[in-house]
Formats: sequence, structure tokens, C-alpha cells
Amino acid sequence: MSMPSETFSRLSGWNFDNSYARLPEIFHARVNPTPVAEPRLVILNRSLARSLGLDPAALEGPDAATFFSGNRILPGAEPIAQAYAGHQFGNLARLGDGRAILLGEHRTPSGERFDIQLKGSGPTPYSRRGDGRAALAPMLREYLISESMQALGIPSTRSLAVTTTGEPVFREQILPGAILTRVASSHIRVGTFEYFAALGEVNALRLLADHTLRRHFPDRMESDNPALALLEEVMERQASLMAQWFRVGFVHGVMNTDNMALSGETLDYGPCAFINAYDPATVFSSIDHQGRYAFGQQARIAAWNLARLAEALLPLLHREPEIALDLANGALESFHTRFQRYWLAALRAKLGLFNAETEDADLADELLRGMHQAGADYTCFFRNLSKSTDSKLDSPLGGAFTEWRARWAQRLVRQPQTWSESVRLMNENNPAVIPRNHLVEAALDAAVSSNDLAPFERIQTALSKPYDEAGQPDELRNPPPHGTPVCRTFCGT
Ligand code: AMP
Ligand code: MG
Repeated sequence: MSMPSETFSRLSGWNFDNSYARLPEIFHARVNPTPVAEPRLVILNRSLARSLGLDPAALEGPDAATFFSGNRILPGAEPIAQAYAGHQFGNLARLGDGRAILLGEHRTPSGERFDIQLKGSGPTPYSRRGDGRAALAPMLREYLISESMQALGIPSTRSLAVTTTGEPVFREQILPGAILTRVASSHIRVGTFEYFAALGEVNALRLLADHTLRRHFPDRMESDNPALALLEEVMERQASLMAQWFRVGFVHGVMNTDNMALSGETLDYGPCAFINAYDPATVFSSIDHQGRYAFGQQARIAAWNLARLAEALLPLLHREPEIALDLANGALESFHTRFQRYWLAALRAKLGLFNAETEDADLADELLRGMHQAGADYTCFFRNLSKSTDSKLDSPLGGAFTEWRARWAQRLVRQPQTWSESVRLMNENNPAVIPRNHLVEAALDAAVSSNDLAPFERIQTALSKPYDEAGQPDELRNPPPHGTPVCRTFCGT
């Protein structure tokens, strides 16, 4: 016998208050998840549950699987699919949540507000030709990578649970269906603004801007020009986020404007992966033929996406179109400087540098150029820097970097901090382990083909402390063995 929804909700600690559902009809479609045959909880994020003020024990029983699969709707939830548009590989399309449903916003005991979204929960009015469903491997992939971004200290949506549906999904093959419970500061995207701009709905645009400011940047609500303040805040967060992606070698893979969140969290884990050898041209996504979303392109693409946001905001920036355009352009011009500031700060930390010298950018560039030429593993190389002692900067780096090492050693002595302080800084910024794509793929394969979650859990445990080196599995620390084929990654699955 399952318990009544009220009881389950109270025992688990859910507390819904849905500000987005209160926005006018044009913002969303009211739609419930489509019930599934046989919901089964595959994985629950107990520490995330606790941090949301939820009781993990209550979220593990059979009642929980019916909730996480969308078979039962809790009191206070108001399921909606959000309307949005988006530039996909450069072309504007009307999209919306085609396979995700926002159950509502959970308010934590400390007053924070988080979207609780089911991904893979059945068709919505925005599904177009899609089935509204998701397969197990991609949902486990999002769980693993989003949680490892969090552990790396990078803003990201979170993953609370994955359930299987007991139903097949039909892709190129028949795959087990699954649903991910995603937790986000919000799901407001650049594409949400583009949706109303494309429809010429200036009132809706204004409501959305107000809503976004209230939710993410309440201090800026009273600005002289709130829309400009919003644009600047979002740019600042994206500049910082891009630097953080570069710091750890993350490739998002499908940076369409509908996959860029105004909160500054990494959103929508499709064909994402981490680079092995340092190469700005690295692409994993099977559909990114032109390398539009290659590793080294990401800051440029973020700027392009922000220009789309600025365009959508034009009617709110100023009554006079020409002044609005000047304001937008003025803001957009600052992106490069904002990004460079964050990226240089990240590079200094990666190199163990506390203070700033004008030559630092050049020092870092020289290193990156050398790494590119040598095909050095990005993660191992940076991690090994802290293993060179200041008097004897050699072995882990190999002979090719002798000159650079000498220059770096001279630079290190021009700061008051000791070598061991530098080592600590480096080890806090250069992860020892990352989700190596070939291992992620193997773990997902074991989970799906052999029903064996052990490899997944092993990787997940290691990645929960990515800056700790002791006791980490060798295969996660090392580059893929020579000859390992590059795994292509797929999106929309
Ligand atoms: P994505 O590439 O995952 O960011 O998705 C782009 C758009 O396609 C969004 O509007 C999704 O909701 C939609 N979409 C992706 N997969 C499906 C699916 N299986 N069924 C319906 N809509 C989907
Ligand atoms: Mg998306």
C-alpha cells in the first residue's frame, strides 16, 4: 500500500511555491507528466536531498519512485512545460519543454528557491515530433557530469534522482526509458527572452525581465535601467562560467541559446565531455560538424548568445531604438574584458600565482601553446605542476618545457608566498580526476547493458572529491590508453 501524497510530501519535506506558474498563460502550458508503467528508483542524491531540507530516507521507498517518475503529483506542485525559443546552431526555432515538466519551485528551510523538473516525463504541447521521453544512459550521464561540475566548484544545475520507467524508448535502438529529477536555480534561458521578442510580446518580455531580476538579482531591481542591469549581471556570470569551464577542460557541446541559463548555471548536459589532450579544436558532439561548439570556441559563442539576449531585450533598454542599440552594444563590448579577467585569474591559480604581473597572460599562453604542440594531457599536466619542487622543476613535465619551467620558477619567486602555499592553490584549482569520457561511456554501458551500476558509482564517488588525489582510481587520473578511440557523444537522446 502506498501512502497518501500529503503524507509522503510532509515526510519528505517538500514545500512548493510556484512563481513561474503564476506568470501569464503565454509563458507555459499546464501539463502533467504521463504516468509510466513501472517506476523504479535507480539513484538518489542523498546529500543534495539533505541540502534542500528533504529527508533522504523518505525519498528512497516505493512512494518516492512514483513521485520521481511523475506518476503522482504532490500537493502544491503545479506542473507546467515552459515556453521558449532558441538559436540552434545559429538558427532561431520555437522550442519549449518538449520532454521536461517543471513540477514547481521548492522552497528550502533557509528560504532558497529551486526549480524541480522532471526530464523525460512525457509529451507536452512543445514536443513537436518528439516522444517526450529520455533513455537511461543520457540521464545517468547528466546526473554524473552535473554532479561532478558541482564538486569541481562550477555553477551547475543539480541532479536529485534517476528513475527507470519500465518502458522502452525507440531511438536507433530500443533503450530503457528513464526520468531525471533536475534541480535548478531556474530554467530561464536566453531562449525564453527570444521567445517573447520573436512574438513581439513586449509586456511579457517586461514581466520576464522583472521575474528574472527578482529571482536572481534582487539587488538590481531598483537600478535606473533594470533591463541593462540584467544584461550586465548575466554577462558577468557567463564570463565567469566560461573561465571555469576552461579551467577544467569542459566542453558543453551544444551551446544553443536555449541551453544558456540566466542564472549562470551550466545547463543541459547532452553531448558534453572533458578534453584529454589540450586542443582548443576538440569537439565531441556527433552533430557539431563545423566545430561551432569546440572547446576553445566557447567564450566566443557565449558572447554570440549574449548578443541574442541583448537583441531580445532591446525594447526594454530604451524607448528610442537607437539609444537602446547603443546601450546593448556598450554592454556587449565589455564581455571580452570580463571573460579575460576571470580566465587570467583562473590561469594564475592553476599556476600557483597569487599576485598579478603584466607578463602572466604571456606566460600562460606560452605554456598552452607548448601543451597543444606536445598533445599534453590537460588535467595531468596541470596537476603535475605542483609536483615539481621549486629547486628542481623537472621530471613530471618532460624535457620539452625546460625553458618555460625556468621562466615560471623565476615568476614564482617574485611573490611573497611559499612554494607550499602555491602547491595548495594549484591543487585547489587543478583537478586530479575528471569524468574521462571513455570511462563515463563504459560505466553507462555497464549500467544499461548489464544492469551493473558499480562502475558508475565508483566513478561518481571518485568525482565527488575531484581535487583529492590519494586513493583515486588510476584510470580516472590518467589519460586514456594510447589508441583509445575518441567517443562521440550524442544529444537529444
Ligand atoms: P536539447 O537539444 O536537449 O537542448 O533540446 C532541444 C529541444 O528539443 C527542446 O525543446 C527539447 O524539449 C526538445 N526535445 C529533445 N528531445 C525530445 C524528445 N525526445 N521529445 C520531445 N522533445 C524533445
Ligand atoms: Mg535544451
